[in-house]
Amino acid sequence: MTDCLFCSIAGGDIPADVVFRDDDVVAFRDIDPKAPVHVLVIPTAHHANAADAAAASPELVGRLIEVAGQIAADEGVADSGYRIVTNTGDEAGQSVHHLHLHVLGGRTLTWPPG
Ligand code: AMP
Repeated sequence: MTDCLFCSIAGGDIPADVVFRDDDVVAFRDIDPKAPVHVLVIPTAHHANAADAAAASPELVGRLIEVAGQIAADEGVADSGYRIVTNTGDEAGQSVHHLHLHVLGGRTLTWPPG
C-alpha cells in the first residue's frame, strides 16, 4: 500500500533496526521504546489490524505470534515475562494502520494498561 510507513519499512524503503525478516514477517525495534525490549512484529503484506489479518489469513497471525515468541527468547525475556500488544483503532491508540505486534519486556509491566 502506498503511503504506509510499515509497508515502506517492510519493503526496505525506510530504514529500521531489523531483528528478524523472512518472506512474510519483519520485526524491528520501536523507534520510541516503552520498555528495555520493545520490538514490533509486522506482516510484509498490508493488513490494517489483527482482526482484518485473521479474517484474510489466520495462519499469518499465528506466524506473527510465533515470531514474537522467538524474539522474546532471543531478547532474553521469555522466562522473565513479556507482553504482546496490538492496538486497534483510535481509542486504543493505534497510530500506524498496518498490523503490528508490540513485544514488550525487560521490566515489570503494570496492569491494567493506561
Ligand atoms: P501504535 O501506536 O500501536 O500504532 O504503534 C506504532 C508504533 O510505531 C509506536 O510505538 C511508534 O513508536 C512506532 N514507530 C513509528 N515510526 C517508527 C519507525 N520509523 N521505526 C520504528 N518504530 C516506529
